[in-house]
Amino acid sequence: MNRVRLLVLNAALGPLDYKLAEGMRVEAGSVVVAPLGPRTVTGIVWDEGRLPGVEVDAKKLRALREVVPVPPLSAPLRRLIEWTADYYCAPLASVARMVLSSGGALGGPTTMTEYRLSGGTPERMTPQRITAIEALEGEQGTIRELSGIAGVSEGVLRGLVNQGVIEPVEVAIDRPYPPADPDYHQPALSEDQMRVAKTLVEAVEARSFEPFLLDGVTGSGKTETYFEPVAEAIRMGRQVLVLLPEIALTENFLSRFEDRFGAAPVQWHSSLKSTERRRAWRAIAEGSAQVIVGARSALFLPYANLGLIVVDEAHEISFKQDDGVRYNARDVSVMRARFEGIPVVLASATPALESLHMANSGTYTKLELPSRFGGAQLPEIKLVDLTIEKPASGQWLAAPLIEGIEARLEAGEQSLLFLNRRGYAPLTLCRNCGHRFQCPNCSAWLVEHRLSSRLACHHCGLETRPPQACPECGEADCLVACGPGVERIADEVAALFPEARVSVATSDTLGTPERAAEFLAQVQAKAIDVIVGTQLVTKGFHFTELTLVGVVDADLGLEGGDLRAAERTYQQVAQVAGRAGRGSKPGEVLIQTRHPEAAVIAALADGDRDAFYEAETEARRDAGAPPFGRWAQIILSSEDEREARQSAARLGDTRPHLDDVMILGPAPAPMALLRNRYRYRFLVNARRSANLQATLRDWLDTQDFPPGIRVGVDIDPYSFV
Ligand code: ADP
Ligand code: ZN
Repeated sequence: MNRVRLLVLNAALGPLDYKLAEGMRVEAGSVVVAPLGPRTVTGIVWDEGRLPGVEVDAKKLRALREVVPVPPLSAPLRRLIEWTADYYCAPLASVARMVLSSGGALGGPTTMTEYRLSGGTPERMTPQRITAIEALEGEQGTIRELSGIAGVSEGVLRGLVNQGVIEPVEVAIDRPYPPADPDYHQPALSEDQMRVAKTLVEAVEARSFEPFLLDGVTGSGKTETYFEPVAEAIRMGRQVLVLLPEIALTENFLSRFEDRFGAAPVQWHSSLKSTERRRAWRAIAEGSAQVIVGARSALFLPYANLGLIVVDEAHEISFKQDDGVRYNARDVSVMRARFEGIPVVLASATPALESLHMANSGTYTKLELPSRFGGAQLPEIKLVDLTIEKPASGQWLAAPLIEGIEARLEAGEQSLLFLNRRGYAPLTLCRNCGHRFQCPNCSAWLVEHRLSSRLACHHCGLETRPPQACPECGEADCLVACGPGVERIADEVAALFPEARVSVATSDTLGTPERAAEFLAQVQAKAIDVIVGTQLVTKGFHFTELTLVGVVDADLGLEGGDLRAAERTYQQVAQVAGRAGRGSKPGEVLIQTRHPEAAVIAALADGDRDAFYEAETEARRDAGAPPFGRWAQIILSSEDEREARQSAARLGDTRPHLDDVMILGPAPAPMALLRNRYRYRFLVNARRSANLQATLRDWLDTQDFPPGIRVGVDIDPYSFV
């Protein structure tokens, strides 16, 4: 091979051709640096004949600059990049960037400089320096990372470096990870667990593609069970990827993993330090990292020798990425397993309707764990009809729930209240003039956060201090909070039970692995009586003393334009209910609702999962919704309202008229303004027979959008804002 075609990591450029420099060796998948004008670009040598490009005269070709010393991307990974770009209508370059996501991983140096306190004191103390020195006790990292930890500017830290108060340390980047021992501590499995584990172990040994749905009730021990095929893969010298939906879950997972394998797995998520990121990337690419536990982005790493993928809590919507390449890690993991020729396990107590459909139709192998481990009983579920049991005015907890909490407090047991709303109140208004506090950048109310005394937009991150007086009418002390968030529910509990220890659990309070670990430790030490939390607490947690779960507002998720609302409500409530009674004491779940007759609420009350899935399946079949048909969403946005509206109208005029693809819109998106961009939306519903992606691509290709327009294509969307 003397001439190569590169997939360059720049979506604005197409594939580019180069020749090899003297003595240079490359193969398909090699990562290379190539000259481009006065600069260079990074690219991946692609398989001959698979990338359309412009044929350039051989004499005009420039030579590659260098080959980056990392293992070439494997053929299965290259196929995955192609498939993902094609399926999600995303540029190949954007997908490839996710693979090479660790900036530092490609470069040469093997050590890097980190900083830590030296123990000295500065000549002059300032409040910021005091803050920094206190916050950095025991910390080590780059200046940038330390500035994030301490909450002071990098300049302040550099000042301290100059004074010798902070000292540089050279650290080796690629230290090996401690090995996991597959036989470190083998638990005794139940009969059901053994049956499932055996099937999965055999699938790992078979080294061939097989998708599994591990459908096990909450507390059935899915983790212990899938640890067996993980152990088998380790014995075979192959790598395992375990995808988890949320960083708050990793702590729990890590300690269980260590109990089982005697060493921690390699982690991959967005809050890794850059050195850890590089170290993990390299170990993964070279094959020395055995088990990798990570967020969805870990799916695109260049595993040298992957033998098994597990997607835990596979129904979780956080596996769907909603910016950049809009992919669903659950679905892409099945494709990766297919290209790699390995088994993949989707584990959940409340599988996505799509996954269950695949299992019931035989495309996936279904494995069931129908009962809780160790004889623990599933909790008893009761509805609290809020139209009959009315909470006191300005309060949200009805008498049965209050009595339930009281009984737990007296018995020294724990309660969990679930409300999927961060902050204190979702809306603030002026009692005098009716002014509502809205985000200037988004079509959204500002949410009051009393713990941090801020009004915040949950969409663009804008934060302001709540004003003393109404900005509209000038009246002082007239702002009222409308509706509840978790902080307000926590206040209500504290007012009812002043002696109770109440803790708010949301991404605001548990946003880092350290904080999540601290929270878990506190719950386990019984230092918390009542947890008030968002969907974060619906996942994976195992608290043995928790015997009451209260769902504050089961109707909340059913409002709005979410086409998966019923399924999502079912999953959330069933998952949070699954946190109750996991130890020896039985659990109770109280669901507050104004619509006890709604199908999904009734199914929850009856514990009749099959009834819910059957009803929802029929509804989806009638609507041509997934898995029977497909959805896509196209959003055109611009900072200029008129430009967005006109471009959307023009695109609408050229829409294809097909029998099997229905295109609705354009209409202003539900979030008509988001981060200062005006948004117009097309909703597409296609039959399974249609080639949806090709239709959309051909349609969009007819347009020359103005430079201010951004076009977002979302295949199999989960967010309908
Ligand atoms: P799930 O993920 O299915 O909700 P978990 O994996 O969290 O359930 O298991 C529930 C609890 O039971 C955990 O504390 C787990 O450690 C324990 N457990 C499950 N299986 C076993 C086993 N075979 N031996 C010992 N403990 C087990
Ligand atoms: Zn906003």
